[in-house]
Amino acid sequence: MQEIFTGNFTQQDPIPEEAIAAAVAVMQGGRLHRYNTADGEIAETALLEQEFAAFTGARYCIAVASGGYAIATALRAAGVQPGDRVLTNAFTLAPVPGSIAALGAVPVFVGTTPDLTIDMEDLAAKAGQGNILLLSHMRGHICDMEALMALCDARRITVIEDCAHTMGAAWNGTPSGRHGLAAAYSSQTYKHMNSGEGGFFTTDDADLAARAVMLSGSYMLYDRHIAAPPPEAFETVKYETPNISGRMDNLRAAILRPQLRTLAERVDRWAARYSVLEQGLADVPGLTLIARPAAETFVGSSFQFRLDGWAADTVREVVAGCAARGVELKWFGAAEPAGFTSRYDSWRYVDAPAMPQTDAVLAGLLDMRVPLTFSLDDCALIARIIEGEVRRAYGNGFA
Ligand SMILES: *Cc1c(COP(=O)(O)O)cnc(C)c1O
Repeated sequence: MQEIFTGNFTQQDPIPEEAIAAAVAVMQGGRLHRYNTADGEIAETALLEQEFAAFTGARYCIAVASGGYAIATALRAAGVQPGDRVLTNAFTLAPVPGSIAALGAVPVFVGTTPDLTIDMEDLAAKAGQGNILLLSHMRGHICDMEALMALCDARRITVIEDCAHTMGAAWNGTPSGRHGLAAAYSSQTYKHMNSGEGGFFTTDDADLAARAVMLSGSYMLYDRHIAAPPPEAFETVKYETPNISGRMDNLRAAILRPQLRTLAERVDRWAARYSVLEQGLADVPGLTLIARPAAETFVGSSFQFRLDGWAADTVREVVAGCAARGVELKWFGAAEPAGFTSRYDSWRYVDAPAMPQTDAVLAGLLDMRVPLTFSLDDCALIARIIEGEVRRAYGNGFA
């Protein structure tokens, strides 16, 4: 009999009891706004910022309303103006080019390698087109950060990191988000901490941090932050910087603080699940796993593989076969955007030239979520189902 998986690919862990209790306490106090503090009180949001800064090693941290908001804030604080061109990954998700467009700036897409990291050759070729790179560590794949920083330093390109999928990850022991000028993280439900919506901006640069605090909507209450630069940093910035409200509130912060304390533990649980999937799919004809360099400490919150050179209809057969057995795969080769999945040529507000090498990678790229509600046995079963469907379709047709 055919095995079927009955788990839910979008079901995350429940919010921990400790976080629920902290949220209830905030609600009982009634002071949900981050600047609504009792005498001598430090808001949950400010404490979370301090703890998140310590977690990544960044000097400054600002908690905000979403990851996309954090990215736009980083770009704006870094001086991106309407009409400016901003280099970014062609392989990423919609809020990344969306953050660039939010400023009236223009994305310039850089291709992806088969290992799903930014194509350095393409970046070098396009380096003259923009002086900011919004580097998206899409699906948690981290490029050679030493090589990337060397290239960007040499070409005077400022790097802003989109760490939506690399919260808790590292390159050569350096936490993701600590190579560029600033980084943005997300605490949206499907990422590595869950507050429904939420995000973080981090940097070591005092001027940039002061701008980000003002942008986030701090009015003149910036001294209530404890992971922000000292008041001197705000002297001129406070007059120059628009308030573009996007604060985090104490309720979300209260939910996130206990989750941050257990993030490392969850990263280990993801690693165990990823490894079961990887082993289960190691020897399937026609299926290529994504190489993970030794320098990369990644968070296995999602899993990708490629069916290189397969005809679109045959890939579709695999997706349908898996779906019929309860395994939800997303396909980056589909012509039409669907669900959370879209591609650089779906974002028609950008005038993007065709990228044949990137298209060839995306044509065979399949992706799935790995929520922590899946057991190791679930992951083994999922791998068997994918293997069966890929073997069944293999040979039915190549492009
Ligand atoms: C989710 C996501 C974001 C944005 O996060 P939100 O909190 O949803 O705004 C940015 N980049 C990538 C790659 C993402 O997946």
